[in-house]
Amino acid sequence: MSMKKLDDLLALVRVRAGQRVALRQRDPDGEACLKYIDKDAAPQALGLLCRKLAKLQEIIYAEHKHKILIVLQAMDTAGKDSVIRHVFGSLNPLGVRAINFRAPTLTELDHDYLWRVHAQAPGKGEFVVFNRSHYEDVLVVRVREYVTPQIWKRRYEQINDFERMLCAEGTTILKFFLQISASEQKKRLEERRDNPRKQWKFRHEDIEERKFWLQYQTAYAAALTKTNTVWSPWHIVPANRKWLRDLIVAGSVVRALENLRPRLPAASGMDTEVEIPAVD
Ligand code: ATP
Ligand code: MG
Repeated sequence: MSMKKLDDLLALVRVRAGQRVALRQRDPDGEACLKYIDKDAAPQALGLLCRKLAKLQEIIYAEHKHKILIVLQAMDTAGKDSVIRHVFGSLNPLGVRAINFRAPTLTELDHDYLWRVHAQAPGKGEFVVFNRSHYEDVLVVRVREYVTPQIWKRRYEQINDFERMLCAEGTTILKFFLQISASEQKKRLEERRDNPRKQWKFRHEDIEERKFWLQYQTAYAAALTKTNTVWSPWHIVPANRKWLRDLIVAGSVVRALENLRPRLPAASGMDTEVEIPAVD
């Protein structure tokens, strides 16, 4: 796959600045993407991107300058876990952390909603993937009415300010919404219910959440519209096709990291002529 084709493909999923997101107008099958890549060519293209990603991450780790934050948000079964395994699984574990955000504990609830999130933000040279995130505080929290509208409405701006601060302090933030259709989710939930190898993932709460599908779509559209910023952009990834989903996330991250132009640190303060002493 050429760079030009990859960039054209990635442009389809990036939310433009100031764009109002209407999820019904987005295609979770990603038919328009098939002009650029087909399923047969995908494994090779993904392999290449993952090798590039691993190299970039090694340099970022060595350079100890940039902080990388990837945010994954999606409805249940859209494949957040799979993306973490397929795309970020080949990175050096020393420089990577994947963080699950579940329903807050009592201690977390005693603090502001960004408290637990800020504590997990990446340090210099570090690569952090959020499996769910502070966005749950304008998604599930809004849909299930855990706080009043007055409270969740003011959070978009607070989130933008928080992310702007992280960015100003050297963090590169890339946010991905993995979009599946309601019918695809039904198929995947049935598979989890019926396939003994997948049953460990099946949870009754997922069935309850699914009943709120439309409310979630509204909440996602609002979050994507209000928090798509220059310093922390959203990508809406068609996720009904798993191979396309993985390729788009990998490609978007690789291109963004290449733009940072990370460099291995020079051998400063070290005499490169120094003899390595013999000890035998
Ligand atoms: P899978 O897609 O494999 O089911 P998951 O991300 O749904 O993975 P779970 O452990 O099943 O993982 O669910 C985590 C749950 O925690 C979600 O239902 C999510 O809505 C909830 N959660 C996360 N953050 C918050 C929050 N701030 N407030 C309330 N609930 C939250
Ligand atoms: Mg779940």
